[in-house]
Amino acid sequence: MTTSTGQDLLFANQLFDNHATYRQTALAHRRFKQTDILPLIDSLKNDSRFEVTQVGESVEKRPIQLIKIGNGPRKVLLWSQMHGDEPTATMALFDLFNFLRADDSFNEFRQQLLAETTLYFVPMLNPDGAERYQRRNAWDIDLNRDALRLQSPESRILKNLQQTLKPDFGFNLHDQNTRYSAGPTAKQATISFLATAYDEGRNINPVRERSMQLIVGMNRVLQQYIPGGVGRFSDEFEPRAFGDNIQKWGTTLILIESGGYPNDPEKQFIRKLNFVAILSALQSIATDAYRQVPRTEYNTIPENERYLYDLLIRNAQLVRNGKTVTVDLGINRNEVNIGHATTFSYRSEVEDLGDLSTFYGIEEIDASGLQLAPGRVHDDMLRTVADLRKYPLDSLLQQGFTTFRLATHTAAPAVDVPFHLLQPKTLSSRNVQTGKIPTFLLRKGKQIRYVIINGFFYDLITGENKLINGVIE
Ligand SMILES: [Zn+2]
Repeated sequence: MTTSTGQDLLFANQLFDNHATYRQTALAHRRFKQTDILPLIDSLKNDSRFEVTQVGESVEKRPIQLIKIGNGPRKVLLWSQMHGDEPTATMALFDLFNFLRADDSFNEFRQQLLAETTLYFVPMLNPDGAERYQRRNAWDIDLNRDALRLQSPESRILKNLQQTLKPDFGFNLHDQNTRYSAGPTAKQATISFLATAYDEGRNINPVRERSMQLIVGMNRVLQQYIPGGVGRFSDEFEPRAFGDNIQKWGTTLILIESGGYPNDPEKQFIRKLNFVAILSALQSIATDAYRQVPRTEYNTIPENERYLYDLLIRNAQLVRNGKTVTVDLGINRNEVNIGHATTFSYRSEVEDLGDLSTFYGIEEIDASGLQLAPGRVHDDMLRTVADLRKYPLDSLLQQGFTTFRLATHTAAPAVDVPFHLLQPKTLSSRNVQTGKIPTFLLRKGKQIRYVIINGFFYDLITGENKLINGVIE
């Protein structure tokens, strides 16, 4: 390791340790809207070093703004949330603005950064998608497949910025599926990178080489906090995507994808990692330190793989046609938007069943010696979902009750207590099978060990209760 790398890690550690000082507390969960960030952008106008310019509007006429700071020769364009439901880096960018505005022991670095680089930011390129907490824009178009046809105003804005600012570096900031693993392992890919290809042959020119070098530097930094938790996206050329085209148009393009981290559903730790990684890369750009980094190290970052389920239950016994078979269950918990997508509920599914011994779970249960059995359905019919609260639910769970029937159809989208409700017309076979909602018991003889409701578990022996929300079927 070179001396400069050692200094980089020290700098990164200082950023990591001080992140709370700069954290934009107005953004505390993932489902914020453009109305939440507009006042934060407005407040930057009070600082003469920032320039805020409207560069266009979304399909639904939401303003899209460019924030500029710095006067240096190295131009960097960073944009986030091209996909509306991928907000982690947006939070980090607002932390970064607070960092740039502060007056403290990082002053020397700030002066150097703003003298050596000009930074351009577009936080939340797809505000209409963010409004619905969906990937696509208001026309249902994926902006990241619109780099050539440019049908969406948001896509035209991004291309115009690249063509007119001609940035040396571009940061394309996304979120990825939380079930990606870093290589064929049990480790979630908490952050993944890609130095996008600019042609089918995946050749490496100086533009792309620089992105590999910057990624190697960020990987070294992140390994301190998430050892083994950094992945690398496949570099197959996607001719319609912005990353690939911007690399082709001559801007060194760095794709950063925020994945999952245990017990961080709102991605607040991952936001901090973004803050540290991006600022470390900006330092490297400002000092040209990345030029000393061997790009071949890029290939040592493990590729993103799909080896993870949210919950993997191993070696459960299931009775089929009078025979006992041993199966593993791969369960995924999917987020479903509620109302105006300011909140969500989980709806889980048995994705696979059988021999899953080559897979892993973000959570795992060893069910050796335990039988899968349907939960008990309560005799009472509920008139409304709210009636659930009249029951001693914990005691019912301990007795193996998992399910109530509703007397009348409810339009309620979700139930925030962990019970499984059946609409009057639902014919539930209540067999455990693929495609079904995972609600069942794991028992040894008469003794219930686990109650599973909507893919979350309650261990009756240890008392570990991870049940979150129930489900209406
Ligand atoms: Zn994305």
